[in-house]
Amino acid sequence: MQVDYRPEKSVVENNGHVIEVQIEDPDGSVPVGNKDYEIKRFHVHTPSEEKIDGRRFDASVHLVNTSADGETAAIGLLVEEGPPNPVMDQVVPLIPDTAGDENEAPDRIDPGGLLPADDEAFQFKGSLTTPPCEGLEWIIYRQPATMSGDQLAALRAAYDGNIRPIQSGNGRPITLGRVVSGGQ
Ligand SMILES: [Zn+2]
Repeated sequence: MQVDYRPEKSVVENNGHVIEVQIEDPDGSVPVGNKDYEIKRFHVHTPSEEKIDGRRFDASVHLVNTSADGETAAIGLLVEEGPPNPVMDQVVPLIPDTAGDENEAPDRIDPGGLLPADDEAFQFKGSLTTPPCEGLEWIIYRQPATMSGDQLAALRAAYDGNIRPIQSGNGRPITLGRVVSGGQ
């Protein structure tokens, strides 16, 4: 698969469960298998919903991409505290205090700026923690992205512990491969 995100017109929303960035009229695309997906939104969980080898991370970011025929591919990023994330520098000041509120970003936001440098990723079939629930492609980057302590604190101040318990794999295979990231 190849991830080709572009800077997009975006709105930062407090939807009552997560802080979510809605992408308006996306330009970038994510081919998975023989299908093209477009990014619709991304949101943050604190701490991470995923664990790798039993380790939970400070946060995770889920990028939700959909195809023309309504299939969904979710890209997950684990986050550990470190250097500030440039994308979150744009998002954090726009976090609405009140559920149901949203703030339009003055500049385009590039979801590709969230991705870690190393493109090794796990891929499996799974679900979203909100409907639609099954049959999703999941791609989780192995290398964590970073956010600063201040960025994580701002996200926790909005929602902390907005995660679902770890689920059984139910025998589903998890493969590890490489993602081609970045635009041309
Ligand atoms: Zn999520």
